Amino acid sequence: MLDRKYILIDQHESYCTGKIIGRVNEDHYYLVAFDIHYEKDPTPLRPQEAVAVEEIAGSLCEECGSRRWKIFDTASDRQAWIDWMEKPSPESKKVLDLVSTKRH
Ligand SMILES: [Zn+2]
Repeated sequence: MLDRKYILIDQHESYCTGKIIGRVNEDHYYLVAFDIHYEKDPTPLRPQEAVAVEEIAGSLCEECGSRRWKIFDTASDRQAWIDWMEKPSPESKKVLDLVSTKRH
């Protein structure tokens, strides 16, 4: 069950975050509210999208093949991942791929 989970979408050089806020159409789609941060013109809007479960479960990075959607129980779990991911180590991307391969 993915409802109420915190998400991070890995776009290889960057990422975006959001939260799964509901189910649509008997679990085939999840409603995702994305966190959008505009540096120059902050906005309170959180655009929502219905995302197919196949996209969440199966979408792979075109650059490195790792899974794009990372799913977390809490916002602090996700922040810990972001902190680790952004550590300036040339090895961190490799480790990240190994972990995501093992997990599935
Ligand atoms: Zn990648």
